[in-house]
Amino acid sequence: MADVKALLGQFEAMAADPKALMDRYIAEGKKVVGCFPPYTPEELVHAAGMVPMGLWGGQVTPSVAGKYNPIFTCSLMRSCMELGMTGAYEGLSAVIMPMLCDTYRGMAGAWRVGVPGVPLIAFIHPQNRTDPGARDYLAAEYRTVAERLEKMTGAQVTEEALQKSIDVYNDHAAAMLDFCRAANEHLDVVGPVARHAVMKSARFAEKAEHAALVRQLVEQLDALPRHAWKGKKLVLTGITAEPDSLLEMFTAHGIAVVADDLAQESRQYRTPVPAGKDGFDRLAGQWQGRQGCSMVHETRAERGQMLVDMAKETGADGVAVCLMRFCDVEEYDFPYISRDVEAAGMPCLCLEIDQSTQNNQQNGTKIQSFVEM
Ligand code: SF4
Repeated sequence: MADVKALLGQFEAMAADPKALMDRYIAEGKKVVGCFPPYTPEELVHAAGMVPMGLWGGQVTPSVAGKYNPIFTCSLMRSCMELGMTGAYEGLSAVIMPMLCDTYRGMAGAWRVGVPGVPLIAFIHPQNRTDPGARDYLAAEYRTVAERLEKMTGAQVTEEALQKSIDVYNDHAAAMLDFCRAANEHLDVVGPVARHAVMKSARFAEKAEHAALVRQLVEQLDALPRHAWKGKKLVLTGITAEPDSLLEMFTAHGIAVVADDLAQESRQYRTPVPAGKDGFDRLAGQWQGRQGCSMVHETRAERGQMLVDMAKETGADGVAVCLMRFCDVEEYDFPYISRDVEAAGMPCLCLEIDQSTQNNQQNGTKIQSFVEM
């Protein structure tokens, strides 16, 4: 058990202080590239010999971001802008931004003027994925991103390097899915905060290093007797479930997190990279396969049923939608999700996620009501 606690402590430290990780990589002579969430193909950065690092904002009260971000900018992008403008991302060689929603369209221009010291590489995912040219278009976008990375480093993104990077990422995804399985068998040890730390740290750490640590943790967990959780169980969906004080409320009320559809967490791992003509085409094919995500256009609203299935498979008592403040694409999905979850006879909680405040009292009241239902 001591080993499990020590390992979980390592994940918590990485999740809490990505800047320390970035400084470590830079001190080791590596270039670090910031990857805006959630579907920047990090494999391109990895194949260029650099370290991709997720940009997921943080708990900050914006003081300068409002100069370029309107007040209705989602909480996540507002905190990214604030951190960029106040120097937290100094040291990054560049950032890559996927134009996945309307907020990103404004954010690209805001970044260029607000954070001029960190160059921006922007690209667009095709939303009409049934168009026969969509996959080729995205592969061409990815080639352009790679060319810009090559210019920055002088390194070539070769086909061999890209295939190897895809293997590294696939291996990491497999380790993360195995962690989710092991965590559910040990909900007494892997509480909501610890589960989140393992998932979040993956967005910052080098993937081979992180996969090795995750496998150590899974081995230690598998050596412990399985635990039968007697409290309530929840499935989380949304962009992120933060801050830790929100997750601590689950713990305080005896609630375990048994599955998630969070952009920062399991959404990263559930869509395999298919076979294809080359590495760029394979990565583009992964976008074609993504489902049940607010950033992906689908003709049928499938996310609600997907969450119901997830809850049934894991024995969850309900679904909590962690709604990022002012994220319009998630807000559009919410009515369909709550309709489907409630039709299946389960409660659907709506918790507001705001990176600018630590005050979760309203969410606390909703969580308490869920426990008392
Ligand atoms: S998808 Fe939502 S959270 Fe992400 S950038 Fe767009 S508005 Fe913000």
